[in-house]
Amino acid sequence: MKTSMTMVAATIAAVGLFIPSAHAQFGAAPAELELVRVQDDLYVIYNDFVPGNVTALITDEGVLLVDNKFEIDYDNIMAQLATVTDQPVRYVVNTHYHSDHSGSNVRMQALNAEVFAAENARAKMIEAGQPGLPNVAVEEHVRIYLGGKAVEVFLFGRAHTDGDVVVLFPEHRVLAAGDIFAFGEDTPELIDYAGGGSARAWPKTLDAALQLDFDTVVPGHGVVTTKQEMRNFRDETERLATLVREMIMQGRSRDEIEAMLRAEFNWADLHVQLGLDGLLAEMR
Ligand SMILES: [Zn+2]
Repeated sequence: MKTSMTMVAATIAAVGLFIPSAHAQFGAAPAELELVRVQDDLYVIYNDFVPGNVTALITDEGVLLVDNKFEIDYDNIMAQLATVTDQPVRYVVNTHYHSDHSGSNVRMQALNAEVFAAENARAKMIEAGQPGLPNVAVEEHVRIYLGGKAVEVFLFGRAHTDGDVVVLFPEHRVLAAGDIFAFGEDTPELIDYAGGGSARAWPKTLDAALQLDFDTVVPGHGVVTTKQEMRNFRDETERLATLVREMIMQGRSRDEIEAMLRAEFNWADLHVQLGLDGLLAEMR
């Protein structure tokens, strides 16, 4: 088990080899970052496609981050934050275990930041030998208060992995969704079966998240968008599960199903590698 998790981590780290990207290799060089204001004291630190988005709540009692890219991006994240605040990073929430969302934990913990993640995400990080294990494990719901604002962390169910949390900023009506919602053509549904992902559960998990009160979504990858786009993505996750199930029932081959996923859902090699066997087993 340990070996396979290490392989998954290595595969995740190698994603840039398989997906069209300006970066020669995923996480091999720092991404070029851009800080964009979503609403008053809430920002996103973007980059082009890889690694994942960072959401930053800036208060006069400190900073809360959702995700923190790779460790190689740490200096640039801090430089971007320094353009808008001199407050320290107090809290980090990892939406899941992948190192393009949790890679700077160890550096931020060195500054006394508390890191939150789902218990399952923490367990996967242990299996994969990732540094910077979360200090606080989320079971279902946690509310963090900072600078007069509430930040809500929810764990709804399996989707991209079995430890995906979403983070709601109720005053802003903004949801940081992590990779249960990756937005844009380059970021189709990536089901990490070794990480506990599930195509069958994914639409229900999104349904639960969509019950929350928000208008704007920071996806795990891609530009800030609307709740309606997240609903559209949810319907695509259901369409994927349904089509695969139908093709299995019709006795279609693995190659035919793979071809359909590439054509209809923009799957790249990485998606096939992490998702196809698990998907066939789950839908059978
Ligand atoms: Zn991910």
